[in-house]
Amino acid sequence: MMPIWKNCQRSLIMTAMAACMAVLNAWSSAKASSPDFLIDQNLWREVINEYSAEKAAGHIRDLSRFHRISGGSPGYLAAAAYVTDYMRSLGIFDVEVEKHTADGDKTYLKWRSMPGWEINEAELWLENTGELITRFSDIPVSVFVYSNAADVTGEAVYAGSGVSDADYDGLDVKGKIVLATGEGNAVHREAVLERGALGVVAGPPPDNTDWLYYPDLIPLHRLRSNKSLREKTTFGFSLSRIQFQRLLRFLKQGETLKLHAKVDARLFDAETQTVTAVLKGTQMPEREIIFSAHLDHYSPGANDNNSGSASLLETARTMKALIDRGVISRPKRSIRFLWVGEMHGFAGYLAKDEMIGKRGIAGMNLDMVGEDLYKTRSVLTLVRTPFSNPSFIGDLVESLIERIDGLRLSSPSGSNQRLNYRVSDFKGGSDHFMLSDPTVGVPTVNIGHDHDIFHHTHMDDLEMIDLTELKRVGIMATAAALHLADAGEESAARLATRVAAQSMKRIADQTRKNMNDLFTAAASGAHQTHMARIFEEAKIFVDIQTRVEIDALQSIEEIKTSPRLEKLTHILKDTLLSLAGLEKKKIEYLYLDLCRAHDIIPESIALSAEEKRMRTIIPRRLFRGPISQFYFEDLMGEGIEWYQDRGQRDRHWSNRRTEIVNFMDGQKTLLDIYYAVSAEYGRSDPSVYLKFIEDLEKHGLVAY
Ligand SMILES: [Zn+2]
Repeated sequence: MMPIWKNCQRSLIMTAMAACMAVLNAWSSAKASSPDFLIDQNLWREVINEYSAEKAAGHIRDLSRFHRISGGSPGYLAAAAYVTDYMRSLGIFDVEVEKHTADGDKTYLKWRSMPGWEINEAELWLENTGELITRFSDIPVSVFVYSNAADVTGEAVYAGSGVSDADYDGLDVKGKIVLATGEGNAVHREAVLERGALGVVAGPPPDNTDWLYYPDLIPLHRLRSNKSLREKTTFGFSLSRIQFQRLLRFLKQGETLKLHAKVDARLFDAETQTVTAVLKGTQMPEREIIFSAHLDHYSPGANDNNSGSASLLETARTMKALIDRGVISRPKRSIRFLWVGEMHGFAGYLAKDEMIGKRGIAGMNLDMVGEDLYKTRSVLTLVRTPFSNPSFIGDLVESLIERIDGLRLSSPSGSNQRLNYRVSDFKGGSDHFMLSDPTVGVPTVNIGHDHDIFHHTHMDDLEMIDLTELKRVGIMATAAALHLADAGEESAARLATRVAAQSMKRIADQTRKNMNDLFTAAASGAHQTHMARIFEEAKIFVDIQTRVEIDALQSIEEIKTSPRLEKLTHILKDTLLSLAGLEKKKIEYLYLDLCRAHDIIPESIALSAEEKRMRTIIPRRLFRGPISQFYFEDLMGEGIEWYQDRGQRDRHWSNRRTEIVNFMDGQKTLLDIYYAVSAEYGRSDPSVYLKFIEDLEKHGLVAY
């Protein structure tokens, strides 16, 4: 990968030169007025002028040096110190460093902390030829995160994917090093913990077609970091396809393959940190607009997530510069920045900050925001807030993305690539999911890129960053926060009309999806009871969508309330309700029409026995914050296999699971929850909901 790093250095020099030049030429086209332009034109133009992707890229370069492993690793703490020092140097933010235990045992909310991990060096040698295969100090991701110290020489054997019993049939791996292509932690579990192997050497999975084009690419693997596993944990190395195939060749030729693994690392009880900085509002300091970005990850991890962390630093500098120049005054409401250890570390912060939901009006999480769209084959993706916590924030950010799409905006050191974006329904995967949980209480969108093919590989470096894309996201997030922090009655009214217009589209879209289901069912000769069920549920789903939209509209009250706004909101709500009535008429017309055309007898349906039972269950959750995957796996033990199987058959299962929990408010019945989650992610088997809730009840997480 040397050529890439050389290019990087060159582009960084160019970057530094370009930063001295005047930044932007494109704002003149921003003057064109648009009814959807919710932000003050002057503010927008000044943010575009001031925000520097070159400066943000400088932070990305600096942070990329640190191997920022979550759980109080020296690299993570160094990155936290970098952020803290920079924010303090700006002089207008209240900066604090919150500390929490990181020992792989202490659990905050339903998230077990990650342990401390320190690594000085690691090397993998091919004894047959005396060659060095890989070394930590050259390629940090070539060593499994949370590997233990080792200095062993052993015969290596190939175990296929290495994750199932069948892979080890007739294979004795005890005292040997296992080569496998499965997910690193699963291979370590099966080979080392279960069968006494010395350690693991992983090759890229053969079924990842994206990676077939990159035979040098080295993916990241992480070992499970529970304290109880600490003594038994050994090590893993991750290799590229070329490196891995080379080792396999020795075996194919019938030779004994001998490897020597040296790892100078340790797992220990540590303390980790969340850095938080607040620009205190002048009139309503207790109301906050919240930014978050996860600061942890491996080195380089340029896009994931140095891009998000660095963008927030540049957003903060931009705010200070605009205030210093007198372009804006310090905003009325506060703006809070959070640099966190992704999810597991953030839980440590959230466990203490129980009032964040009271203060937080809305949030923006930045995760992977600088992608070169062409190289990484990704798309800018705005993830909306969940049905369980509707907010205006998605529509505000979307309006800014549309605005940017209309600009010929480029950064001096960036590309001229056109923006390519999509808006996604709520899904997890980053810290917006922690904040958006209704018991945490800050409806938060995620701004990032799907699906970057270099995500979690050693090629996620500066070469994959496009400064134009970095700039687009940076100005959008900065302008949105400044706008909201100062918004008054007029801004709230404008926002309300935007939300209502988008709401109408979404209600109509819900109808469309359901009409499509009716068409499909009729065409495939569905039984009349099945048709009737789709019809009845379709009307319920339209009502649920409408409720969600009205709540999003209502969330504007978090910014401002006034008699004038109340009247407007009332009229907009009425419009949505009238639309819902019309949409349901459309559905009814189509149902009867299809019945006639396909000789189906319309019937009215009764609830099934299962649904009747679900109607009697009113679950109340007994915990705060979402449930982590690791926590749930440990809780379920062997029973997790049932859920893993479910996950294979329902691509929305993990989001569905999140929302089932989110909707448990002690008022909705399980049947209500089933309908709400089905309106959000489509229908699925109701018995899954029953089993899930019973499992949670068994473990004392839910009462009903
Ligand atoms: Zn990330």
